Amino acid sequence: MEALRSSLNCNHTRKIRVVHDNTKLKLKKKSCLFLSNSKRISPLRFCLDSVKPKGSVDQESEILVWPSPKDKIPFWKRDFPLSHVRAEGLPNIKDTDLLHIVHITAELAPIAKVGGLGDVVTGLGRACLSRGHKVDIMLPFYECIHKHNINELELVTTYASYHDGNWVPTNAYHGVVSGIEVIFIEPSNHFFKGESVYGGSYNELEAYLFFSRACLEWMQITGKEPDIIHVHEWQTSVLPLLYWDMYHYLSLQKPRIVLTIHNMEHYGECSQEQLNKCGLDGSLYGTLDKAVDDRTIGHNPERLSLLKGGIVYSNAVVTVSPTYLTETLCSGWLTRTLMQNRDKYIGILNGIDTTIWNPATDAFLPINYDALKVGGKKICKQFVQKGLGLASEDTENNNAAVRIPLIVCITRLVAQKGLHLIRHAIKLVEQLGGQMIILGKASNTQVEREFEDLANLHNKDSNIRILLMYSEELSHMLYAAADMVLVPSIYEPCGLAQMIGMRYGAVPVVRKTGGLADTVFDIDDHSQPEMANGFVFEGIDEESLDGALHRAFSYYQEKPNDWNRTVQNVMKIDNSWNNTAGKYIDLYNSIRVK
Ligand code: ADP
Repeated sequence: MEALRSSLNCNHTRKIRVVHDNTKLKLKKKSCLFLSNSKRISPLRFCLDSVKPKGSVDQESEILVWPSPKDKIPFWKRDFPLSHVRAEGLPNIKDTDLLHIVHITAELAPIAKVGGLGDVVTGLGRACLSRGHKVDIMLPFYECIHKHNINELELVTTYASYHDGNWVPTNAYHGVVSGIEVIFIEPSNHFFKGESVYGGSYNELEAYLFFSRACLEWMQITGKEPDIIHVHEWQTSVLPLLYWDMYHYLSLQKPRIVLTIHNMEHYGECSQEQLNKCGLDGSLYGTLDKAVDDRTIGHNPERLSLLKGGIVYSNAVVTVSPTYLTETLCSGWLTRTLMQNRDKYIGILNGIDTTIWNPATDAFLPINYDALKVGGKKICKQFVQKGLGLASEDTENNNAAVRIPLIVCITRLVAQKGLHLIRHAIKLVEQLGGQMIILGKASNTQVEREFEDLANLHNKDSNIRILLMYSEELSHMLYAAADMVLVPSIYEPCGLAQMIGMRYGAVPVVRKTGGLADTVFDIDDHSQPEMANGFVFEGIDEESLDGALHRAFSYYQEKPNDWNRTVQNVMKIDNSWNNTAGKYIDLYNSIRVK
């Protein structure tokens, strides 16, 4: 706790008064990042000036007002500060042989996050930074990024970068996000315009080809030669080709390239003509040992895969969990390429950034708590229940013996995530008398419509809420409110939801695949009781899920003491980057040029 206090630079205890159905509860609460700056106090908490002793932050009192579905502004849409996390708060491991690492990415949490990629780049970047390395991130300057969430934003370079026979005037801005230096690339054409990170009305493939080259062009113009260029996913997988076949001849000598594959399903399908647009000769890459998509050999025309090219051309290739590494070496069309590059292909489990995901300091929560004092979690649950119009134990039943388990599922609504199992869980949770909240966003209109129908059917009940949107703020509140977090993925390269859930005391119910198999171990598997931390099922059929959910619900309802112990145990599990950032550093060191 001392480390936590000093890392957060605040050392106070304050009182929060919770208005609790006309009863005022007094709770002692450890303060958070925002304590010393009243403007930054979570808007869910209202300072009572009348009871606040002047000049004393220590005894500041706040009142918590329960939200309601009738609130004009939903409780998760109030005005939270996003750029609140600084570089501090990470453990004090210092490396001696320091590196300059530049991540080139399509996502960055929290300002341009769609899924786990954004979390990973921010978390890994911050972990390396805290170990003493120099870390920069290069990101497209998406029109949808809220500039007020970027610190110290300034235009640093105006230059031109190549696209389809033209040199496009381009701006590079510098800013700081969550303590990390970010270079934002803003072309003057229509790329990256629109209301969301993906799905704008421009050609996405061409935009990322442009972005990848624009990053190298910027390094060339500014003379920056990092030790490591770390690219992610298909969007930036052309960069290793551009580096080794163009920029290494032009100017850049020092960098070596790491590619992390977060999800093998997206492989950057590209035609030779499209590849020409970034200045490479596409016809040179259509071979088995370079970038041809093996499945299209003999077709007219054959296609290229940027991801495959990235695997071939990078100095090291990482995927995001050891089990997913094994899975990808056994099945899928990229297996042959991965086997041929086996000596440079490794699995490193993702971590979570435990400063950003910390129930003891999280500004989005109505009240903070930690593994030693879990009481606040119950308030978080009631807060969400009241805000969404769900029955809550304190009011509706007034019977402490009735325990209503609340399970949340926070996910992109895509086939990979086990949509039929999510739909089945809704029915089952209702039957079992529990509560379920789905926070999900679909990118496919058919899936969106299906879940909208489900939302229309269920959202008036007292037990199910289906919220079809992306909300970082609400996701934090839901993890805190939840007794369980459901991750029924068909395949899952790593999965962060189960790790975040555990950090917030939500016990995971997961399918045994990829990174879920590496992080969740069944409570009823007595072969490794010290690892047991959740409920695991194997099949992709509904009965398999039934078994795990039944077991979880019975455990919750029939063994409250054991359950509470499990909650505390899962909160103490260290899934932070402290465990795995060192493996990336070792990898960087193994390929760097000294
Ligand atoms: P993936 O990268 O496949 O989307 P992960 O489990 O690795 O899955 O990471 C998902 C991340 O995105 C988590 O931080 C999760 O909380 C977040 N997330 C997913 N869907 C939503 C949503 N609708 N609203 C807010 N956060 C979401």
